Amino acid sequence: MLKKVLIANRGEIAVRIIRACAEMGIRSVAIYTEPDRYGLHVKRADESWSLGEDPLAGYLDPARIVNLALETGCDAIHPGYGFLSENSRFAQLCEQKGITFIGPRSDVIQRMGDKTQARDSMRAAGVPVTPGSEGNLADLDEALSVAEAIGYPVMLKATSGGGGRGIRRCDSPAELKTQYPRVISEATKAFGSAEVFMEKCIVNPRHIEVQVLADQQGNVIHLFERDCSIQRRNQKLIEIAPSPQLTPEQRQYIGGLAVRAAKTVGYENAGTVEFLLSGNEVYFMEMNTRVQVEHTITEAITGVDIVREQLRIASGLPLSFRQEDISYRGYALQFRINAEDPKNDFLPSFGRVTHYYAPGGPGVRVDTAIYTGYEIPPYYDSMCLKLVVWALTWEEVIARGKRALDDMRLHGIKTTANYYRQILDHPDFRAGNFDTSFVPNHPELLDYSAKHHPSVIALAIAASIAAHAGW
Ligand code: ADP
Ligand code: ADP
Ligand code: MG
Repeated sequence: MLKKVLIANRGEIAVRIIRACAEMGIRSVAIYTEPDRYGLHVKRADESWSLGEDPLAGYLDPARIVNLALETGCDAIHPGYGFLSENSRFAQLCEQKGITFIGPRSDVIQRMGDKTQARDSMRAAGVPVTPGSEGNLADLDEALSVAEAIGYPVMLKATSGGGGRGIRRCDSPAELKTQYPRVISEATKAFGSAEVFMEKCIVNPRHIEVQVLADQQGNVIHLFERDCSIQRRNQKLIEIAPSPQLTPEQRQYIGGLAVRAAKTVGYENAGTVEFLLSGNEVYFMEMNTRVQVEHTITEAITGVDIVREQLRIASGLPLSFRQEDISYRGYALQFRINAEDPKNDFLPSFGRVTHYYAPGGPGVRVDTAIYTGYEIPPYYDSMCLKLVVWALTWEEVIARGKRALDDMRLHGIKTTANYYRQILDHPDFRAGNFDTSFVPNHPELLDYSAKHHPSVIALAIAASIAAHAGW
């Protein structure tokens, strides 16, 4: 078993990994840059090391991080998500220096991180992919002729993209002409690569993804699917497991496809295979070669601790479960509580958390790195808390989600919590009838009044009486 792990990340996912290490008797080492000095991961790890003043450079410096792991006597690095988690050169450097990278081999990261190479591998393995360009697009002329051949609307996508960025829908040649240079420039800025490719736009699909686990002995299993169709601008807001809109046959078929995808590329560790579903058609979209933000809801319905399995696999141990041992129970929802103002075009709302009261009670889990008095730095992701609820039935999980969102108090910053409450009240959502067009098609859900909890109103009245009475 691994003895000491450096966590090359920050925020809630660093805390999540530290917790798994603590339960397994593994020592944890945190890294931080100065704006994160008061971060929870710094306080929770067994050791913490500063990587300088710059808010980002330290988290993105492979050589420095690997050297620190060596100097502090770590035998492994967990990359979390984002940052260097899908950087194949980072994984390769770990391999060269004899540090275990908690993830797949660097060549697998490289292959799956390149969306056109990943599509090639899947086609060869007989996994259906969306129709599109053979590889990357050479120029606008090729883009126009591929679009003509597959038919509009099309999606222009950054080959190295992630986090929902570098993706544009084009409904006509004119739109393609304007979007083409934009996507290239966005891809270059965000991902350091100008490569783009094209896919047929699947109109109003559902985003269905499958969690897989693969050990070094060649065993591959899946932990069923997550429905991430509730998205805004290709970014997930609310995730659901299992999908309330799959038949048992579809569930079995898509799980099988994900296992085939992972086996085809010699996958190891935890990963996610993302698909688009339209009617009965399933298309491979991409594979994320890391732990995902929404792994929590799969943990809730299966009882499997995914980060624990990651650490076991990286230690060379076989999977704790066979496919037939895995079952699921009930439903789970995850709300990505973002420090954003939904009423102001989701403008980031960083600053001090003046008061935070965690929701609780049955079936509620919170993964976060915030606390009362914490100042959310403006340099990173706006996601500041993941609220996960579980219940036996779809109706109950929605009720529990509303209750937990009401339970939570997060003052000092604007968040997406009240907006999510509106989504839970929508009849289509409640009927389990939604696709990726749900959020853009329901702008009226943004038209809520910020509700004040009775206790807050009572406090305000008490304060005003006190003021009048001259207390
Ligand atoms: P998930 O796939 O786990 O649902 P997201 O797509 O929301 O997660 O991405 C999680 C984090 O990782 C976000 O901060 C996102 O910006 C970042 N991220 C994802 N892919 C990439 C990438 N290819 N390059 C840089 N950052 C990425
Ligand atoms: P990222 O790496 O940024 O997560 P994905 O390829 O997973 O990018 O796509 C993100 C989202 O964009 C999907 O969940 C889906 O909503 C939308 N999308 C991507 N490709 C297509 C497509 N071909 N047709 C329709 N929607 C798409
Ligand atoms: Mg994706």
